[in-house]
Amino acid sequence: MEYDIIPDDEALSKCTWCRSHIDDQMEVLGLGAKLRPDLDLSEYESHCIQIGLVSEEKPLYMMVTTKDSEAKINGNDGMFLVCSEECGKKLKGVLENEISLGKMFETVQYG
Ligand SMILES: [Zn+2]
Repeated sequence: MEYDIIPDDEALSKCTWCRSHIDDQMEVLGLGAKLRPDLDLSEYESHCIQIGLVSEEKPLYMMVTTKDSEAKINGNDGMFLVCSEECGKKLKGVLENEISLGKMFETVQYG
């Protein structure tokens, strides 16, 4: 599987869900996802990639966590940044739906 790498400053300055601008001053939320074990994204470690979903048309930006990062230790292979609880809820719903479709993710949690 191949993914497009999105430059950090592009991916980290926008809410994954609504694409509104986020910055350091704002309290952003992180959603973490565990990938299915057969999905190896190690070559994308520390990068933001664009992923496509089965149940949602818009592509999402996901940060692939590095081996020794806190997120990874907490079981998150990928992280999503959202601007608000509202966006977090919607994104979580979509990701949970993806889990039920069994394509990419195993679990999703607030990280
Ligand atoms: Zn948002």
